[in-house]
Amino acid sequence: MNMQRLYEYQSLRGDYFKLKEQVNSTARKEELLEWKGRIEQINKEKEELEKLIDEKLKLVGKNNSLIKDIEIKEKDMEKQLYDGKSANPKELLSMQQKLAELGENKKHTDNICSEENEKVSALQKDLENKKQELMKEYKPYQSEINKYKQNKEIEKVNLNELAREIKEMEKEIDSDLLESYLKYTKSLGNNVLALVKKGKCEGCNIDIPKVDLGDVKVGNKLVNCENCGRILAIL
Ligand SMILES: [Zn+2]
Repeated sequence: MNMQRLYEYQSLRGDYFKLKEQVNSTARKEELLEWKGRIEQINKEKEELEKLIDEKLKLVGKNNSLIKDIEIKEKDMEKQLYDGKSANPKELLSMQQKLAELGENKKHTDNICSEENEKVSALQKDLENKKQELMKEYKPYQSEINKYKQNKEIEKVNLNELAREIKEMEKEIDSDLLESYLKYTKSLGNNVLALVKKGKCEGCNIDIPKVDLGDVKVGNKLVNCENCGRILAIL
């Protein structure tokens, strides 16, 4: 029985399962998803700021055109007031009152404009900070996600290569021995073959009876550990 080959086979299978676990592990993926969520949140906040600034600028624009309208009306009124066409005191007074009202209105609208402009400046500062925050997260995230994808690709290629090597190796192992080994893996996991070290089973560290030890040395039949059931081998 070629236990040496079987031992190498077991070791290769061990590598395969370890890599498979790595490929299937979702821990890093979850971390990256969480990161992505944070970035999306920052982006959402950035877009909300942009929307708010846009609304405020529209309001400023609207008020600026209101001011222009008022100024036109003022000029009109002043012209009427001072062109001397009307001498009616009541009419003149009414015009003066209207002019004063327009003045008040203009002042009020002007105030709104400066208030809104101040808010816009503050919001634009917030927006700049938000953009920087976004870039600080986004660049390393992109590089990490690319690295992650590349690694996954490499891992998958390596896994396929290992699977191929395992299949190749199976051809070199006695089919009865392989069959027994694979049957035991169902209950014992991958490490079915245990080496005997200093008279003990490597799998469970229990002393092996002398008679079994002799059989293992001869190597004509399968000897299982009395304690853990593993196939014993001396290489
Ligand atoms: Zn054992």
